[in-house]
Amino acid sequence: MSKILIKAKFTLTEKNNEQVVLKDSYVGITDDKITYVGNEKPSGYEDAILLDRPYGFVIPGLIDLHYHSDSPANKGFCEDCGTVKMDGSILYEYLTAIYSATTEEEWKKIANLTFLEMICGGITTCVEFNSYYPEKMAELLGECGLRGYIAPETNSLDGFPYSPDGEHVIIEHKKDKDMFKKLERNCDLIEKYNGTCDDRIRVTLGPTEPPACRPELLKEVRKLSATYKVPITMHAAETKIEREYIKNEYGKDSIFYLYENGIVGPDVILAHTVYANEEEKKLLAETKTNVAHCPSVFVIRGRYMKSLQHYTDLGINVGIGTDTFPQDMIREMRVATSMSKVADNDFRSAKSELLIKCATKNGAKALNRDDIGCIKVGAKADIAIVDMCDFNTVPVRDPVRVLISCGTSHNVTDTIVNGKILMENKIVKSINKEQVCKEALVATETIWSRIPNLNKLSPLSVNIE
Ligand SMILES: [Zn+2]
Repeated sequence: MSKILIKAKFTLTEKNNEQVVLKDSYVGITDDKITYVGNEKPSGYEDAILLDRPYGFVIPGLIDLHYHSDSPANKGFCEDCGTVKMDGSILYEYLTAIYSATTEEEWKKIANLTFLEMICGGITTCVEFNSYYPEKMAELLGECGLRGYIAPETNSLDGFPYSPDGEHVIIEHKKDKDMFKKLERNCDLIEKYNGTCDDRIRVTLGPTEPPACRPELLKEVRKLSATYKVPITMHAAETKIEREYIKNEYGKDSIFYLYENGIVGPDVILAHTVYANEEEKKLLAETKTNVAHCPSVFVIRGRYMKSLQHYTDLGINVGIGTDTFPQDMIREMRVATSMSKVADNDFRSAKSELLIKCATKNGAKALNRDDIGCIKVGAKADIAIVDMCDFNTVPVRDPVRVLISCGTSHNVTDTIVNGKILMENKIVKSINKEQVCKEALVATETIWSRIPNLNKLSPLSVNIE
C-alpha cells in the first residue's frame, strides 16, 4: 500500500457537488485513490510521502479533452500563416505537409515532448483525436504515466485530403468494404488496449471529421459504440471548407449530418463546433452532445466560439482542450474566458468559476466519469499542485481567479496520476526532460528539412542570417 499526504494552502474540493476552495488543507492518497480531504491533519498517514506546499493550490488534474500529440512540429511554422482562400485554415496545406514528412520514429520523439509538457503543466488526462500511431501511443502513455484516451484515425478516406492550388480540396473516399478497414482496426485496438495499464489507457471510436466519413461508416460507428461502450470523438463544424463540402454533398449543415447518422449524444465529444449555427447549437444541447473547446488554435486564425457562455447557457457540456502548442490548459482557460467576453461584449461572460469547471468536471462528464476531474474521497488520485507564491501569482485573494487570469503551466510544481507522482517539486520522474527536448528538436528539424516549399508556405517572421 502506498500513501501520499499533501499539506497545502488551498485545495479545490467539492461540497454538495459544487466546487469549493478549502483553506489550510490536507489531501490524503492511498494507492490510486483520494482517501482524505479536510482541514485537520489525518491519522494513518504517518509513513506517507509528505508533499508540504505552504503556498500550494491543490487542484483536480486538468483534463485536456482534445489534443494532437504531434502539435509541437507546427510550432513556429503555422502561426501568422494559413490558406487565405480557405478562410485561413491550415489543415489542407500546412498540416498535410507536416504529416507527409513525418516518420513514425520522429512522431514518437515529438509525442514524448507533448507528454512531458502535459505533466509539467498539471494535465493528468488527455484525449487524442485522430491518432495516427495508436499502438505506439498506448506504449508511450503507459511509460509516461498519464491517463490517456486514444481515438485511432478512422475514416473512409483514400489518402490525406489535400489542396493542389490553395483553393480547392481533394477528398477521395474508399469504396465498398474498403471503406470500413480503418474502423475494423479501431475495433481491434479497443479490444487490445482499452482498460490496460491499470485502466489508465482507454480507446474511443474516432471518426476523423464529417468530410472524411461517409454516412455508411458513421452509422456503423454508432452501432459499434453499443457493442464496445466507449465514447465517440470527432471534429465537427471546424472549418468553412468542411461546411461547404457537407452542404454540397448532403444538402445540410455538419451537425445535422452527424445527427442523421447517429453521431450525437452524451457519449459523443465533438471538437470545436465554432462554425455551428444557432439551430445546430440547439441540436447539440437537445442531444446532450459534449463539446471540446480549444480556443487558442482558432484565435491565432482570427476565429472564436460565439460564445462559450452562450453554449453553456444553452445547456451544452463544454470541456477544454489544447489542440495545439503549448499544451497549456491554464492558458487555454484564460483565452477561453477572454474570447467569450469579446464575443458577448460583456465582462460577465465565462467567469473563472465556469472555466475551472470546464477544465475539470465538464471534461470528466464528457468522458462519462465521476471519478476524475474532482478532489473528493473515493475519486482517482489525479491531482496537480500550483505554486501560488510566484511573481505572477501573488497576492492570492481568490486562487481560482488568479490561476486563470495570471497563472501559467510553469507554476505547476507537482503532478499525480492514479496515485503515482509523475512530477515532484518540478522534477519530472517518468520522463527524461533534457533527452526528450533534444530528441524532439532534432526530429522536427528533420521533418521541416523534407518540406520543399517550407519557407514559401511559412516565411520567417524576421530573417535569420
Ligand atoms: Zn483536432
